[in-house]
Amino acid sequence: MLYGYDDLLRDLEKFGGVFSIGKSLFGREIFACVIGDGEPRALIHAGIHARESVTSAVLVETMKAYKGRAVCFVPMLNPDGAMLVKYGVESADENYREFLLAVNGGKNFSLWKADGRAVDLNVNFNADWGEGGQNVRQPAPENYIGPAPFSESETIAIKNLQERYMFTASMSLHTKGNILYYGYKNCNNYIKYVKIIAASMKMPYAESAGSAGGFKDWFIKSGFGFSVTAELGNDRLSHPIDASHAAEFSKTVLKSAGILADIGEELWKKNL
Ligand SMILES: [Zn+2]
Repeated sequence: MLYGYDDLLRDLEKFGGVFSIGKSLFGREIFACVIGDGEPRALIHAGIHARESVTSAVLVETMKAYKGRAVCFVPMLNPDGAMLVKYGVESADENYREFLLAVNGGKNFSLWKADGRAVDLNVNFNADWGEGGQNVRQPAPENYIGPAPFSESETIAIKNLQERYMFTASMSLHTKGNILYYGYKNCNNYIKYVKIIAASMKMPYAESAGSAGGFKDWFIKSGFGFSVTAELGNDRLSHPIDASHAAEFSKTVLKSAGILADIGEELWKKNL
């Protein structure tokens, strides 16, 4: 079964301290939750790409088990996209259905990555926006940069969250390929932390080449601190990955979450 916003709403009822950081285009609340001790210096978010909603299930599993230094979790940044993948165009605002069907070229949205108006949220951030190797400039199931940086309510929501807490470490969960991507151009990419996180996740790591406008790119370029993108799941799996894999993937994320919190704390103290 695929993981949807309906599943998230049910699962989040078990947590205290859940708060909204904004709304999606179709009016769904985007939720965050701080778990652990002290002030959160680390952020982990998931579900920015529609067809990768298994990462949302992974993060909820991680939240259930997490103990230690505080981490802020955002389990589903693109609820409209996740619902399109799970339920098709009927899940969308009726004013957008015709447009979405035309952009998608049919009723099967299982490989959709974008948000509710066909913007790929992970190329909508303000870091050399529009200069990415795979960027496209018109609405599409993936890689459309949007009309401007932070044109989408979902990217604005996580930008506002970052500016409120000023996290110094972050990780974005994606699928798939079992690899940890780091780095942004000539910025400080904290390679020693990359190696520690990669080891904790038992993943190889690689510099992301030709990326721009992503969350990680924006986080690093803005000088907030350390950021990596984790691509969960063996490459032999096909999109969209079933939520039944969440428990297995979350073991990987759980270990790295505490380490990310420690890295965040270390960088926070350095910045004082
Ligand atoms: Zn992705």
